[in-house]
Amino acid sequence: MQIGIMAGPECNPVPPNHNDIRSIEMAKKDISTRFWEKVDTSGDCWEWTASKSTAGYGQISRVGKRGPAQAHRVSYELHNGEIPDGLFICHKCDNRGCVNPDHLFAGTPKDNSQDMLKKGRRFQPKVDGMNSSHSKLTNEQVRYIRASGATQTNLAKVFGVTQAAVWYIKARRTYRNVI
Ligand SMILES: [Zn+2]
Repeated sequence: MQIGIMAGPECNPVPPNHNDIRSIEMAKKDISTRFWEKVDTSGDCWEWTASKSTAGYGQISRVGKRGPAQAHRVSYELHNGEIPDGLFICHKCDNRGCVNPDHLFAGTPKDNSQDMLKKGRRFQPKVDGMNSSHSKLTNEQVRYIRASGATQTNLAKVFGVTQAAVWYIKARRTYRNVI
C-alpha cells in the first residue's frame, strides 16, 4: 500500500500557483487587499501604517515591479486608474503619509513646485544638493526621480535634463546628500 496517495476528487487538490497569476486584474485585487490592510482610515487623513521612505511617503511592494511603489501613488491608481508617465501625485493636505484619495491630485512637476511654493516648502532652510553650480533640480525632484518607476527617458523629458543625468541621480552618483 502506498502512503500519501488517496483516491477521490476531494483528495490532493491542486493548490493554486500564485506565480501563475499574471492578469492585471488579479494583481490589482492583490495589491488592493494588501494596500487596505496597511491604512488607518480613522481620521480625515488616511495614515499609512506600514513602511515609509526616508522622505516620509508610504511604501508598498508590487507584483512584477522592482523596488517599492509609493503608497499615495498606488492609492491614486486604485481610485483613478494609471498615472500618466511623469506626473506627480501631490497632497492637498501636505501629509506625505496620507493615502486618502480625496487628498491627492495629479499634477505636472510645475504644478508640484507651485504647490510647494504655496506651502512654503521651497523656503525651507535645508538646501543640501542645491549648492552645486550644476544643480538644476530641487531636492524634492531628486527624490521623485529616485522613487519613480517612469522610464529615464520620460523623466529626463519631464525635468528638462539629460537621460544620463537621470541615471546619475538614480545611481546616487549625483545629489548624494539628498536622502
Ligand atoms: Zn490627508
